[in-house]
Amino acid sequence: MSERGTATVTPLAAKDPFELRVGLGRNLPDAAVRAALVSGELGFLHSFTTGSAVDGPGVRVVAWTTGCMWRCQYCHNPDTWTMTNGMPITIARATEELRKYQHGLKVMSGGLTISGGEPLMQDRFVARLFTAAKAMGIHTTIETNGFYGVRLSDRDLDAIDLVMLGIKTWDPARHRRLTGMDLEPTLEFAGRLAAQRRKLWIRFVLVPGLTDDRDDVTNIARFAASLGTVERVEVLPFHQMGRFKWERLGLPYSLSTVQPPTPQATEEICELFRREGLLAY
Ligand code: SF4
Repeated sequence: MSERGTATVTPLAAKDPFELRVGLGRNLPDAAVRAALVSGELGFLHSFTTGSAVDGPGVRVVAWTTGCMWRCQYCHNPDTWTMTNGMPITIARATEELRKYQHGLKVMSGGLTISGGEPLMQDRFVARLFTAAKAMGIHTTIETNGFYGVRLSDRDLDAIDLVMLGIKTWDPARHRRLTGMDLEPTLEFAGRLAAQRRKLWIRFVLVPGLTDDRDDVTNIARFAASLGTVERVEVLPFHQMGRFKWERLGLPYSLSTVQPPTPQATEEICELFRREGLLAY
């Protein structure tokens, strides 16, 4: 409520996902949340953003979902960890929102990207939104950590043109320290996608002192090259834009003194991927 007692309505659209959003779905009863997850009738979104040129091919509309089962030390958007921090939105409304951009996305060779948080926390909603997008002739991309890839049937995957898969680090113990979860399900999902000749982009966040072990990166590069369907690798330099969210949410942030990697360090990591025959930048 505002100071004058007028309800403040958070718009679905945001300038970017760095807006801190909390508690937008907290009034929904648990039973309704559970039912929504099963049916996909309702989803939880941090926001919709438009005009992204970095979340898949062309210019994208991005639906940022809430809910994530990982706790990456460098997460830029910890407000998206909790599903009910997001705005409840029916599949019908999300589809109508997307329809507004149908023509423009085609003209700009873009499409819909669903990112997060972790979209596969809401796999039914996500599968339904992708199916609706394909019915409109819109290109579809999911950005995921792959941990719940098993939740997508092959038919669900048919509605996804591109998977952008985050691989955080290779060493299993380091992966668990970094994310709180195991790497294996992500690799299994990658293997399944490759066996079906589905297109993949790999995303790798470069954090000095945390993910820049050269042997580790080389192992990721070899794995990615072995898949045979990886079109590109994106090396994303760590930054501190999400730090304020950790602080505002009262979460212990362990990377406050970590500096972004230099352009040269980022280039050297790209080179490790290129050595394995991958397109990396
Ligand atoms: S997988 Fe993504 S959203 Fe989830 S904690 Fe890691 S960086 Fe954050």
